[in-house]
Amino acid sequence: MSDIITGRCNCGKYELTIPKPDKLGICHCIDCKRWSGSMHSSHLLMTASSVKITGPEPKTFQMKGDKGGTMTRAWCDGCGSGLWIRPEAIPNFLGVKAGLFDAFDIPNPTIELYTRNMCPWETTCATAKQFEGGMQAAPSA
Ligand SMILES: [Zn+2]
Ligand SMILES: [Zn+2]
Repeated sequence: MSDIITGRCNCGKYELTIPKPDKLGICHCIDCKRWSGSMHSSHLLMTASSVKITGPEPKTFQMKGDKGGTMTRAWCDGCGSGLWIRPEAIPNFLGVKAGLFDAFDIPNPTIELYTRNMCPWETTCATAKQFEGGMQAAPSA
């Protein structure tokens, strides 16, 4: 077993190498849903400097989060796979798309954000701490 794991986008233009992760965040915010084209986005919560990415500088898109901070999202322009998300307000942090890696290498979810946006048929993860909104914004969590 290695302490380093490797993932890639669908076309292989980008390969990501990271230390074996122990934190997985599930985000149900509207922006993440649209970004992923799915019901949530799953992010390995990483120290940015520990993440190695091969390939050209990826395409990015910036949006304001609901607390006004800028969120940068990157994806592969060859195949459309999401690569990472970076809240500009948090230094040296990178949310790396968990689905790029083998399922074995992915920890159980540790945190789940914006549960208020979940569809009625979705259930929360038993292993995760839930927040109705963003992490600092969780007034009633
Ligand atoms: Zn690709
Ligand atoms: Zn989100």
